[in-house]
Amino acid sequence: MSQTFQNFIAGQWVAPTTGEYFENRNPADTRDVIGRFPKSGAADVERAVASAAAGFERWKRTPAPLRGDVLRRVGDLLAARKEELANLMTREMGKPLAETRGDVQEGIDTAYYAAVEGRRLFGHTVPSELRNKWAMSYRRPIGVCGIITPFNFPLAIPTWKMFPALVCGNTCVFKPAEDVPHTGHVFVEILLEAGLPPDVIQLVHGFGETVGAAIVSHPAVPVISFTGSTETGSKVGETCGRMHKRLSLEMGGKNAQIVLNDANLELALEGVLWGAFGTTGQRCTATSRLIVQSGVHDQFVEMLVERVGKLVLGDGREAGTDVGPLIHEEAVEKVERYVGIGKEQGATLRIGGKRRREGSLAHGHFFDPTIFTGVTAGSRLEQEEIFGPVLSVVEVKSVDEAFAVNNGVRYGLSSSVYTSDVHVAFRALSELDNGITYVNAPTIGAEAHLPFGGVKQTGNGHREGGWEVYEFYSETKVGYVDYSGVLQRAQIDTYGG
Ligand code: NAD
Repeated sequence: MSQTFQNFIAGQWVAPTTGEYFENRNPADTRDVIGRFPKSGAADVERAVASAAAGFERWKRTPAPLRGDVLRRVGDLLAARKEELANLMTREMGKPLAETRGDVQEGIDTAYYAAVEGRRLFGHTVPSELRNKWAMSYRRPIGVCGIITPFNFPLAIPTWKMFPALVCGNTCVFKPAEDVPHTGHVFVEILLEAGLPPDVIQLVHGFGETVGAAIVSHPAVPVISFTGSTETGSKVGETCGRMHKRLSLEMGGKNAQIVLNDANLELALEGVLWGAFGTTGQRCTATSRLIVQSGVHDQFVEMLVERVGKLVLGDGREAGTDVGPLIHEEAVEKVERYVGIGKEQGATLRIGGKRRREGSLAHGHFFDPTIFTGVTAGSRLEQEEIFGPVLSVVEVKSVDEAFAVNNGVRYGLSSSVYTSDVHVAFRALSELDNGITYVNAPTIGAEAHLPFGGVKQTGNGHREGGWEVYEFYSETKVGYVDYSGVLQRAQIDTYGG
């Protein structure tokens, strides 16, 4: 009998009002049941929001540096439990241990960064245009934040959202992705152990259409931070727009690595292997297009196919595994569908293209790392987010054409260019329509203290990570103090109106 987990609402671990649970299984071996988690309903969200609203009254009065101190302790606990967390995350999500260790480390970095921000949270003090008058701007907390996260970074993404929200003085209602509830559970245990007051964090497990939608549409939740697919983001955006909520959307990607004739091909090869097949291609920043200039195209594709053929599929907890499983059966079916679409649209399947079920792979959602060549710009394979281990190679003649292909999709998260020409490198930084551009590095590898996010259909203009996210989670207020003792009229008395 597997363990039954609960929600954390109003300071207690409680069963869902629905009385229903769902099973969470290991994607590398679906016979392994990790636990039963609450299939909550709107009534659970209702209780969680009421408690978070009460918690907000207290937490907003806690000095920001003390709020930051809690986050420092969270960082210490994450560091102490890094290996345990990495193991349980790989068991429920599938990516290899080196990657889940990186996921935890990103949480640790984000915690220590947040701890320090608690002593900054800068506003501005500026001269007034009037004599004997003081003018300044400063930040205030907003209220209850709804935190809705995807499966692919079970710890890092919740920390990107919740740590700045908490340091700014807000409280959180957290709904982790239904594929990775165990990491969400342990994460909340750690927040509580670090001393976060119990009503400041609420954990409500369940599905997006019920729990997620109830959080998004709740009138007492003025802030929503969502990471997930562009399709789900559109639904979330509609509700938030109607209700005038503050909303941060981080959504899909169709990222490209560009390899030009003057590139260091060995370096570019390591980059694309990591960018395309790390996390089994299930990263918002995954390299799903490879744009190669004609002079090196054939040689580079040969080098790539040879290396991809040697990648080892398997359980992410086993030494030697390069590529773990996909998250669930629907993801495998989606990848299969796109392999069919690629063939129908005339692309050449160079390697992979099949799900794997033999031997130790029999009970998991495994799919071969796959490469299509001869992919045309504008085809579905080249345009649509697949979120799996499928790389589409597009051959181009010039730098201009490479940049145009990079920019010719509806997404704009990350891009990468391999070149030894400094002029082209700087052109890429200025001309590629993405929130992040890497020069001579893969499309993945964001750092916690820099703003993270994308343009076009990837986002709605906000950023996670870095300092900009603190703007999102705080309201800017302006204070004027006139100590002249007389009525002074702005714009009028100074300029003789
Ligand atoms: P998803 O959109 O299926 O789910 C994301 C979250 O939204 C889950 O918690 C889900 O339960 C919830 N949800 C679903 N329907 C909802 C609704 N109607 N209302 C409210 N919440 C709802 O995405 P996923 O499959 O978990 O993750 C993969 C997607 O996430 C990819 O498109 C990927 O590019 C994107 N992603 C983007 C970033 C980024 O920073 N841009 C990072 C990671 C993942």
